[in-house]
Amino acid sequence: MAGKVLVTGGTGYIGGEVIDQLLARGWTVHTTVRSAQKSEARLRTRWPGASERLKVFSADLLSDDGWAEANTGCDAVAHVASPFPLAVPKNADDLVVPAREGTLRALRFAKGAGVTRFVQTSSAAAIAYGHPGQTHFDQSDWTNLAANPPPYIQSKTVAERVARDWVKDNAADMVFCSVNPVAVFGPVYDGDLSTSVEIVKKLVDGSIPLLPNMGICVVDVRDVAKAHVLALEAEADTVRDERFPASESFMWLSDMANLVRERAPDLARKVPTRRMPDMLVRLLAPFMAEMKQIKDELGHVRDVSGKHTEQVLGFTYIPAAQSLEDTVRSLAAKGIVKQ
Ligand code: NAP
Repeated sequence: MAGKVLVTGGTGYIGGEVIDQLLARGWTVHTTVRSAQKSEARLRTRWPGASERLKVFSADLLSDDGWAEANTGCDAVAHVASPFPLAVPKNADDLVVPAREGTLRALRFAKGAGVTRFVQTSSAAAIAYGHPGQTHFDQSDWTNLAANPPPYIQSKTVAERVARDWVKDNAADMVFCSVNPVAVFGPVYDGDLSTSVEIVKKLVDGSIPLLPNMGICVVDVRDVAKAHVLALEAEADTVRDERFPASESFMWLSDMANLVRERAPDLARKVPTRRMPDMLVRLLAPFMAEMKQIKDELGHVRDVSGKHTEQVLGFTYIPAAQSLEDTVRSLAAKGIVKQ
């Protein structure tokens, strides 16, 4: 049922893969970037054959300019754009405001253009935080904002909450659902890396000398994009109001290091072998932002199940080990990490 769809954030890791799959399935794609002047040439290089089936519009999450044009003629929206920086800002509003206002703006203009299907890229950040002691999560769980989680986690939770409330109050006929990925790995297009892929880069390029005792859930970017595409194409009643956590499995960093050594030994020379003592992380946390970020994750299982998404949308995840290997090999193929 290919039609015309707006994908926000066409310059991004996930946005790019969503566009890739939609074009391959015959959709006509509009996409927003912050500056078409700066980004259109890069997008045209990536999809040289798309010509009339890809249109690029300038639109910032914080301004109305360009949004009406970008939505014109679209049946559906995949709202992917949201700030996802590596560094934690001092002020949570630096992330919360663009995430919240951008989501409401995307919804308002979508409704104005008669869009009937809206898929929001939310996050496991909106599911799995602020519940001390809980180790397993699924689509029924919500991050507890009262626990004052870090700014990015707040931004994704607030954005998904306001989206659901807005649709209920203002656009009951619009079919809305979210895709909630965990850390996204997989092949990269170029050196403009998403924060999640930076984790893998740091693991193999020697920037992490010791392995902290922490783990993350992993999913492949091709599966995250597939979940978006299937959510856009499925019967309305299958996806209406759904949350689709996208997660293959939970992995400790030490398991990831071992997997890289096993599956890509040619690229594992700088992968750390020794564990960083928890005490060292705690000691360094007041002085190093990176240690502060991981301090509360030490030894903590935070396992978000993506089973519901496989069952409802009907696909099987790429195994996390494969995804990790493909990430490393693609970083090497693009010259981003060296042997
Ligand atoms: P990314 O590569 O950094 O992409 C983020 C996109 O958002 C970029 O296109 C960026 O545009 C755009 N953006 C940021 N601030 C904007 C603003 N003020 N106005 C307009 N566009 C803006 O990151 P990603 O991994 O693809 O993330 C995409 C989405 O997935 C985000 O909503 C993120 O929260 C969510 N997500 C990601 C992961 C993950 O592990 N990667 C996991 C869960 C959820 P520029 O290129 O101009 O900066």
